[in-house]
Amino acid sequence: MYVPWTRVASWHCNACGICCHKYRVKLTFYEYLKLRPTGLVEEKTGRYYIKRIGNRCPFQSGNLCSLQGERKPVACKLYPFLVRKKGKEEALYEYEGEEFYVYITTDCPNVKLGRGLESMEKLVREAVMIYTGAKKRAELITAPEKGLIL
Ligand code: SF4
Ligand code: SF4
Repeated sequence: MYVPWTRVASWHCNACGICCHKYRVKLTFYEYLKLRPTGLVEEKTGRYYIKRIGNRCPFQSGNLCSLQGERKPVACKLYPFLVRKKGKEEALYEYEGEEFYVYITTDCPNVKLGRGLESMEKLVREAVMIYTGAKKRAELITAPEKGLIL
């Protein structure tokens, strides 16, 4: 279930790897082209995805992701955040005079519901920056205690 970011008290990533089992990752066309040489991506009816092999993402290595930095899909960099250009007032976040709507999925076991506006605001800001391309590497919406750069 996706909830507006203002209804989330806290979140952190402990690199449990659960999300890499749950989803079929959607790619942009550019991401698809970059990963096509691996043979692990596919196109279906004009949409682009990472293939699922054995019910998981084939780029997962142990609990971690083998795609780092620029090669990691934006959808994965953002997870469990979802950024949209339209949405509910409660999900509104303004960045550089532009309106974005940010949601967080409770599928991640470390999402705690409640009011955490201040602590969540900086995470939401980074999610929006990743979404717009203003930032390429996540420093906050990742698992820093494991030294990961997602
Ligand atoms: S985002 Fe959530 S589900 Fe995914 S690895 Fe981090 S803690 Fe686990
Ligand atoms: S690309 Fe990496 S982060 Fe994305 S689902 Fe696969 S293993 Fe997980």
